[in-house]
Amino acid sequence: LKNRLKDNDLEKVYIGIGSNLEPDKNMAGGLSELYRLLTDHRCSSLYRTEPVGKTDQPDFFNAVVVGLTSLSPLKLLEKLHQIERRYGRDRTGQRWGPRTLDLDILLFGKRILNEQDLVVPHPEIKNRTFVLIPLTELEPGIMDPKSGRTFLSFLEQLPSGGVYRIGPCH
Ligand code: ATP
Ligand code: CA
Ligand code: CA
Repeated sequence: LKNRLKDNDLEKVYIGIGSNLEPDKNMAGGLSELYRLLTDHRCSSLYRTEPVGKTDQPDFFNAVVVGLTSLSPLKLLEKLHQIERRYGRDRTGQRWGPRTLDLDILLFGKRILNEQDLVVPHPEIKNRTFVLIPLTELEPGIMDPKSGRTFLSFLEQLPSGGVYRIGPCH
């Protein structure tokens, strides 16, 4: 059927999800909204992460979700911002401060995007164990489309610690 999406119209996206304000409620809510947006979705384990940089704030909960989408990258970003707002995200606070819900596009197929509002692959993946651990848990051989290196190789170069597995991500 003409109006139906073909499989090759779908792109595989990896989305990072994090919260350190009412994280039980906000992670569960954010995940259920993400699952409505993506088909064939899977979630990594749920991790608790000590804050880096700005350390005078509660621990974060983090996970990575993978799934298929027919949305364009910018449309997906818009949907993620809508979800963040629905869960009380207040963007007037300072960057890297406490937040109810943070949804980042980590990877969008093998695309490399450098738009004003959207940089993909997310430039901080390779510096963040709280992203690399759930990402490589979902797909151990996954590669950075920019450098051609595996994300496991980035993870191996970072100091360990600070990221604790809580359990499955429901
Ligand atoms: P970081 O991006 O270092 O994880 P952050 O998540 O705290 O920091 P935000 O305040 O949530 O940053 O987002 C700031 C802006 O980043 C957003 O308005 C968005 O336009 C832009 N942005 C650029 N690339 C991405 C991406 N890959 N995923 C999500 N937002 C992005
Ligand atoms: Ca972020
Ligand atoms: Ca963000």
